[in-house]
Amino acid sequence: MKFRKIGVLTSGGDAPGMNASIRAITRTALQNGVEVVGIIGGYSGLINENIRPLTARDVSNIINLGGTLLKTDRCDEFKTEEGMAKAIETCRKNHIDAIVAIGGDGTFRGATDLTNRGIPSIGVSGTIDNDISATDYTVGFDTAMNTVIEMVDRLRDTGESHARCMVTEVMGRHCGEIALLTGIASGAVGIAIPEIEFDVDACVQRMIEQKENGKRNFQIIVSEGVGGIDSGFGDRLAKTIEERTGVETRFNVLGHVIRGGIPTLRDRLAATRMGEKAVQLLLEGKSNLVVCEIDSEIVPVDINYALILDRMYKNKLKDGDLDKFTAEQVADMRAFCERKNAYVRELYDLANALSK
Ligand code: ADP
Repeated sequence: MKFRKIGVLTSGGDAPGMNASIRAITRTALQNGVEVVGIIGGYSGLINENIRPLTARDVSNIINLGGTLLKTDRCDEFKTEEGMAKAIETCRKNHIDAIVAIGGDGTFRGATDLTNRGIPSIGVSGTIDNDISATDYTVGFDTAMNTVIEMVDRLRDTGESHARCMVTEVMGRHCGEIALLTGIASGAVGIAIPEIEFDVDACVQRMIEQKENGKRNFQIIVSEGVGGIDSGFGDRLAKTIEERTGVETRFNVLGHVIRGGIPTLRDRLAATRMGEKAVQLLLEGKSNLVVCEIDSEIVPVDINYALILDRMYKNKLKDGDLDKFTAEQVADMRAFCERKNAYVRELYDLANALSK
């Protein structure tokens, strides 16, 4: 099918690098004779017909900007039949033949719904958490982590001056990768992530030994997902650490600060390659895919496969989830989860081993 016009939107949590994707998608489409409209405010823009044409010039000078030119939203109405009908009507009325949706797993579910209703759609990752299992990398992850290590370096300065421990909470709802990798890169004495039970005794022991060796400042990185969002884990851990080690301890929440900022080279590059690939796939007549980076290659993965793999990895499979897949696919998914668990464990052990 020759598309005349595609729509691009950003949805769910924003991430640095989304703009680089918008630019790549827009320009690749235009160069192939396909018009582009930007849908403003995620799926709610589709429901409310908040759209505007995008030219090559409209996406000039955005590759270096955080946030998203197209704004974003969380739109529950889109999950309803009425909302979906309005979204489809907007596409039909404005001759939008296909959609590229930039976001996380929720956004990809929306893209599947659109495809099933006759609007071929493709997902491109834009989520700082690196929490889409099918891809090695999600756009925004690198920038967010660089912000974390910069902030932790600042906390280290004051920790060293005052001989304090800093417990720092970072984003990552169901996925501790931000905490894990920044913990390693910050030389943390402890890392708490949802994937592995935190051994507070071992952490206290390491701190006491190091304190006796003359160490003054200690960094502990906690993923917000430990014990569930708003569980208060980090705050409680800070108090426990202070009581049991005698090291004065402060609790810091970095929160949304790591969502913003100038995208790093890594994010601009991944966003550009993924955005270009999404349009190429649509032009080849393919849809219901999420564009992934696997072993440094930019490759498509079926959205349903990606979403179920995610559920398997997060131990959230529901009855019947695996019914649509062949035994070979299920075996591949299980093997993937084992490899990923081993990778996380290896990095976790490395961080603790070096904290001497
Ligand atoms: P993210 O894409 O970052 O994971 P959300 O989970 O909030 O963020 O999803 C973004 C938006 O995608 C939601 O606000 C909603 O409009 C749409 N969406 C999420 N889940 C579904 C679903 N099951 N079906 C249709 N649309 C969905």
